[in-house]
Order: sequence, then C-alpha cells, then structure tokens
Amino acid sequence: MSQQVIQCPKAQLDKIADYYRSKQTSPTPQGALFRAKTANCVITAYRSGKVLFQGAQPEAEASIWTDKNAATTEKKQTTHKQMPKNFLTSNHSGSDEAGTGDYFGPITVACAYVKQDQIPLLKEIGIQDSKKMTDTKIRLLAKQIAQLEIPYSLLILHNERYNQLQQQGWTQGKMKTMLHHHTYLNLTQKINPSQSSGNLIDQFCKPEIYVKHLKTEGESLPEKTYFMTKAESYSIAVATSSIIARTAFLTEMDKLSDKVGLELPKGASKKVDMAIAEIIKRYGRNYLINCAKVHFANTQKANTYL
Ligand code: MN
Repeated sequence: MSQQVIQCPKAQLDKIADYYRSKQTSPTPQGALFRAKTANCVITAYRSGKVLFQGAQPEAEASIWTDKNAATTEKKQTTHKQMPKNFLTSNHSGSDEAGTGDYFGPITVACAYVKQDQIPLLKEIGIQDSKKMTDTKIRLLAKQIAQLEIPYSLLILHNERYNQLQQQGWTQGKMKTMLHHHTYLNLTQKINPSQSSGNLIDQFCKPEIYVKHLKTEGESLPEKTYFMTKAESYSIAVATSSIIARTAFLTEMDKLSDKVGLELPKGASKKVDMAIAEIIKRYGRNYLINCAKVHFANTQKANTYL
C-alpha cells in the first residue's frame, strides 16, 4: 500500500468532506476531520488541512483534488443511487436503531418523516445525534417529538425472538436490515411517499450487503432509498429516529429491569458480566434468553463471577 499527501485550504477541505460524505467511516482518527473509504482508497482528512490518501494507487484519488478540472467528476454508483443534492433539506424520512451493542435488552429501530418546514424547529429544540446526549435529555426530546406529531414507525425486536433468529443463522446485520426495511414500509402507510424525497438509512453495512439480506427474505430495496454513515449528524429525520429508537430502548430496559428485579446495565462491560452472573445464580442460565443477546461473549465472561 502506498500513500500520497496533499495540503488543502479550509474551503477545499469542506468540499472534500462533502464529496466523501456517504463513504465516511468511524471511528475517526485523532485530529482528523473524517476518514472515508472508497473501493480502492482510504482518505483521511485532518483539521490541519492535510489529506492523506492510502491504497494501491493513491495518486489517482488525490488527483481529483489536485487537478481542479477533475474535481466535479461524478462517481459511478452500483446498487443504489447517489442521494439528490437537496435531499437533507427537503421532506424526507430516515431510520436509525438502538440496542445493537447492548448485551441486555432488545434492538429498537425507528423511521421518522420530517417535512422541510419542520426542520428548523427540530434543529432549534436540539434534535441531534442521540449518542451525544444524556438519557434524560433524550427522553425529554422524545416527548417534544411526540407533541409535534412527527409521523414515525417503531419496531422492537425482543430478546426471545432475537435469540431464535440468531439460532437460525441470522446475523445481527440481517436482523437490522429487516427491521430498518419494515419500519420504512410501515411508515409509508402513514405518509404520502410521493411528497417525500426518499428514505435515508443510517448505514451500518455496505448497501450491497443490505440488498443481499433483503433478497434472502424475498424483499427488494424501495425506490429512493439512500445510505450514509453517521447520517444522524446530517439528517434531522435520522437524528429524530435515533432519539425515538433510543427512548424505546430505555423504556424496554426499565421494563426488563423490573421483570428481572435487577437494574440491568447498558452496554457490554464488566458490569454486565457481573449482572449476568447474578441472574444465573437467581434464575438459571435459561433465563437469559428472555432478557439478553446470549451469543455475545459476555455470556462466557460471566463465568468468572460464578
Ligand atoms: Mn445508527
């Protein structure tokens, strides 16, 4: 692998960020504005204006930015189309999920539809990526979203069903795909899709893989579906969905904690391992099927505490 470095002024850096928006990956290295991955190049842009291109032929990718005339070259898309230019500021829906990295509790996926004229208000009340907010703030915003009567649909994949599907060979990626897909289909029953610019999915796998999962269940990608990584930072619809999904996850976790009689920790940390051990001691191993994603490594790690 070889590399090429170019130095850019701020304005060009913004253009470069825009250009690679749908290809951006996380986490972002320290000091970097973004990292993006194309079929044959990894692009890392630093706040200093330095942009690093790594791959088999990084010169080719870097030349897009060093050769001014080439800067407007459109990229070819394969399985899905490029998002229209004004998409994020127009009527659109977007979906996001919660609970996928948490050992305890369900996966929740929401898909919300926002109209162009609602976007400023939603921004004003502080709708943004739910990962950047406290649980209290998230719940508060969820109430405000409900008051604004934003159309949305929500799906909850409870642990029993999750574990069943996992046993049948479903990956978490396939579960997420089908949840995102069906929340959108459910949403289209509540809105007039012809007035929407389309649906944006907070990208969690390659769009090709997403489409492949749909096909295995006899489904296909709806028209005007777009993918973007970190979409909750750019789309108010996705940010709204991230709040709805997270709130539903929190509510389900409260219900589960009541049921189990133990405050179930979120995430997949050592605290989780200790809680698992406590549950096994109280109710036996089988009980985990009702409240946990049992294939996570935590199930084994908990043995340390037994
Ligand atoms: Mn997401």
